[in-house]
Amino acid sequence: MASTSPVTLSQSSARRLVDSHGRVIHDLRVSVTDRCNYKCVYCRTGELGAQYPELRIEEYLRLIKLFVSLGIEKVRITGGEPLLRRGLIELIESLARMRTLKGEPLDLAMTTNGHLLENLAGPLKAAGLNRVTVSMDAVDAPTFERITRVPGSFKNVLAGIRAARTAGLAPVKINCVLLRGFNDDQIEAFARFAREEDVVVRFIEFMPLEEGRLWTPEIVVPLVEIVDCIGRDMPLVPLPPREAGETARRYTFQDGVGEIGIIAPVSQAFCGACSRVRLTSDGKIRTCLFSQVEHDLYGRMRAGADDASLSDYIVQTIYGKEARHHIGEPGFLKPSRSMVHIGG
Ligand code: SAM
Repeated sequence: MASTSPVTLSQSSARRLVDSHGRVIHDLRVSVTDRCNYKCVYCRTGELGAQYPELRIEEYLRLIKLFVSLGIEKVRITGGEPLLRRGLIELIESLARMRTLKGEPLDLAMTTNGHLLENLAGPLKAAGLNRVTVSMDAVDAPTFERITRVPGSFKNVLAGIRAARTAGLAPVKINCVLLRGFNDDQIEAFARFAREEDVVVRFIEFMPLEEGRLWTPEIVVPLVEIVDCIGRDMPLVPLPPREAGETARRYTFQDGVGEIGIIAPVSQAFCGACSRVRLTSDGKIRTCLFSQVEHDLYGRMRAGADDASLSDYIVQTIYGKEARHHIGEPGFLKPSRSMVHIGG
């Protein structure tokens, strides 16, 4: 368990977010709503709707600005489904005007299910968004729509991916969560999709973050199995990491066309290199996806705290970031919120 010994004001004025394990935090994920227009079977029960309030856009901006003043360089907007959020374009426009401590623009990304992206890709790019990741768990329409439980969703998402590429939200990344016996027959087709559509496909191991109770170790399709499966027909060539702490293992094909990545938080956890924290749609800091506690930043802001004391609170909270998650270990406890309500 991370030490929660208090950080002094002089440390906080050093203006860097460092946890008690020495990790520098420069990546913030912000959920702007926990509403979603999909009910993906591995994520949601289909019976629950939104469960948490949303802040006003200017409230997110004030909080994000504080994080940026403390060293955050990359901001990813997520949800729920962020494209459902009114004021999203204005939020991106304002974020694009912010500068990091080095005086550079933020690295601004978004994770979306892509359902509404066809019409929004251009305006988002014009507003200053750099990149987009689209979640897509199958490349054939019937399987995809069995997962999302929304008829017609495949056509929309494919159009959204193509619009994102045309708009220059590059590289367009596709996130695919694999579940054994459910969509693991899609692996090779996804590898071909990466090449044909000129997108980066990233397979993500399924984590115990669903609303219901579906997760078992056996349902996770681990990294080695994915590499073996693709490699049988299309040998993979490993790519070197672009930065320390890169979460995805990256591969290309023998002719160098196309890229796939595998994110293996379960079979090959990368907590030691974690550089991220999250802000939920209702303004709570979560220092780990699997945190058992949340830190009510917005509550302090509403109570009238000034920027200096909110900054100190952020610094102290992040200092106590958990060393690692405990997926698959005896006594593992699911977090109080599921992925859709935390912000993926
Ligand atoms: N609505 C947006 C979307 O679909 O990308 C953003 C929110 S969604 C919760 C973010 C990502 O989390 C998606 O790629 C989704 O597949 C992934 N996800 C959801 N539940 C997961 C789980 N239990 N394990 C791993 N990834 C999960």
